[in-house]
Amino acid sequence: MFLIRKIYDDSTSANQAAIAQAQAILRAQFSGLSEGDVAKLPDQLHDPLKHRFHAQLLAAENAHGELRGFALLLHAPDLHFAYLEYISAAPGGTGGGIGGALYERVREEAAALNVMGLFFECLPDDEALSHDPEIRAQNTARLKFYERYGARPLANTAYETPLKAGDDNPPYLVMDRLGSDQPLGRNEARRIVRAILDRKYGELCPPDYVEHVINSITDDPVQLRAPRYIRRSTRKTAPAPLRDRRIALIVNDKHDIHHVRERGYVEAPVRIKVILQQLEKPGFFERLPARKFPRSWIRSVHDRDFVQYLMHACARVPEGKSVYPYVFPIRNATRPPRELPLRAGYYCIDTFTPLNRNAWLAALGAVDCALTGAQCLLDGYHVAYALVRPPGHHAERRSFGGFCYFNSAAVAANYLSRYGRVAVLDVDYHHGNGTENIFYRRADVFTVSLHGHPRVTYPYFSGFEDERGEGAGLGYNLNIPLQEGLDGAGYREHLARALKHIARFAPHYLVLALGLDTAKGDPTGSFTLTYRDFHENGRMIGALGLPLLVTQEGGYRTRSLGQNARHFFEGLWEGTHPARQASGNPRRPGKATRG
Ligand SMILES: [Zn+2]
Repeated sequence: MFLIRKIYDDSTSANQAAIAQAQAILRAQFSGLSEGDVAKLPDQLHDPLKHRFHAQLLAAENAHGELRGFALLLHAPDLHFAYLEYISAAPGGTGGGIGGALYERVREEAAALNVMGLFFECLPDDEALSHDPEIRAQNTARLKFYERYGARPLANTAYETPLKAGDDNPPYLVMDRLGSDQPLGRNEARRIVRAILDRKYGELCPPDYVEHVINSITDDPVQLRAPRYIRRSTRKTAPAPLRDRRIALIVNDKHDIHHVRERGYVEAPVRIKVILQQLEKPGFFERLPARKFPRSWIRSVHDRDFVQYLMHACARVPEGKSVYPYVFPIRNATRPPRELPLRAGYYCIDTFTPLNRNAWLAALGAVDCALTGAQCLLDGYHVAYALVRPPGHHAERRSFGGFCYFNSAAVAANYLSRYGRVAVLDVDYHHGNGTENIFYRRADVFTVSLHGHPRVTYPYFSGFEDERGEGAGLGYNLNIPLQEGLDGAGYREHLARALKHIARFAPHYLVLALGLDTAKGDPTGSFTLTYRDFHENGRMIGALGLPLLVTQEGGYRTRSLGQNARHFFEGLWEGTHPARQASGNPRRPGKATRG
C-alpha cells in the first residue's frame, strides 16, 4: 500500500526526508548519474528560475513514510510542455504497480498543467543503437509500457544521435500526447527540443550538436513512430480522471448521534442534511469515506488533560442526558473541582455547550473527516470538503465552547504543516478564537479571521485587531473585526484584504473554516450575505489557486444554508478552474471540458 504525494519544495522536514530518499534511489538505480546531478534535486524544487523548469516531485510513500518510488516532473510554462526527468521505483520494489501508478499520476499532473504534451527520454529498442541484448530487452519492455498510453518516440529526427561516435544506447525522445489529437508542429517541436537540450544538457552538448539535432526535425507536423507492440484497440491514451478536477467530500456520517434537543439549540443534525441535499446538484463532488487517524493528532493541538477530561466526563453522563458547565473556577486553576460535571467550567468558555456521550463520539468523527480531507490534498486533490458537525473553531488548546469540542480545522492544519506552510482562513461570523489560540506562537501556520466585532459578538473576549501573535508567531495572526449589519459588497472588500495577506504569506496549503452564519437571516449573526455573495466569495478564494481543505463550521439558518453552501462551492469551482469560464488555453481547445 502506498500513496503518492506531491512535493513542491524542500521547506519541511517531511519533504526533506522524501527528497533524501529520492536521491538514494537515484544513486542506486541510475549508475550513470553524476553526484552533482543527484545533489541538485532540492535546488531544482526551490529555484525554478535558475533551472528554467518548475519541478514537482511525486513521491510514492508507504504508511511509514518510506519512499517506494518517485517521479520528477518538470514544467516549462513558457513553451507549454512537461518533461519527465526521472521515474523510478526503489531498489527491489519494481513490483506492486508503483511504476504504473506513478506514470499515471504524472500524466494527470501534466494534463492539469494544460501542456501540449509530456516528453521524456527512453533508451532505444533498436539493435543498431542498443547492442547488449539484455539491456535492449529492458528498453523494449519500457517502450512497450509507454506505448500502452500512446507515448512513442519522435520519428525521423536525429535526437538519438550519440554525443560521442560509438556511444551505446543514445536515448529516444518520447512524446505522450496525453490523449490529445493536436499535431506537434515542426517549429514548436524545435523550440521544445532546443529547450530540453539547453536546459538539461547545456554543459554536455556542444552547439553544433544541438543545431544538428534541431535541423533534423523537418516533418511538419512531427510524426511519432508507428506503434510496435500494442494493437491500437488496446491502447489507453486518455489520462485517468483528473483528481484535481473533483472536490473530495468527506461527511461525518455519525454526526446525528449528537443531537441536543433543548429548545434553541441551533447546532442541529438538519444542518448537514440540507447542505448534502444541495451538493447533489453540481457534478464535481466525489464522496469518500472518512479514515481513522490516531488520537495523537488531536493531542498535538489540544492539551492531554483536556482531551482526557472530555473523554471521561462525556462517558459519565447518563445516556440521553447533557451536562452544561455552570461553575467557572477562574481564580484557582491549580485546584479544579473533583466532580467531573463541576469541572466542566474549568475547560469551557460558555454555558451553552453541553457534555454528553455522543458529543465526544461525534467530535472524534469530525476530526477524522478533517484529517481525511487533509490527506486528500497530499494525495493530489485540489479541494477537499469536510462536511462535519460539531464545528470546531471555538475549541482552544485546553477549552471547548461555542458548540465546539475539538478544533478539527486546527488538527488538519497542523497535520498539513509537516508538508509545507499553511494558512487558515476563518470566514465564520464568529471569531475563530480556538484556531488563533492554538497557533498563536507559530510562524508556520498563518491564521486569519473575518468576523463580527467582538465588542458586540460572541466570543467577546477575542478577535480584536491588536491580537497579532506572540513570540515566533508575532505577525502570523490577523483579525479583521467587522461592523454589524455588513452586506456582501462590504464583506468582499475585507475578504480581498485577507486574501492579499494570505497570498503574501505564500502558503502551500489553505484551510478554510467555512461558517455560513454570515448569511442574511442567520439567528446567530447580523450580516446580510445572499447566495450570490457566497458564490462570489467562493470564486475569490478559489482564485488563489491553493490546495484547499474546507471544514464546515457555523451556519444556522437551515432554510438557506444548503443553497448558500452550494453556491459557495460553485463559485469556488469557477475560481479554481478559470479555463471553464473563459475560452481556455487556445492551444488545446476543448480540453477544459474533459475532466
Ligand atoms: Zn459561527
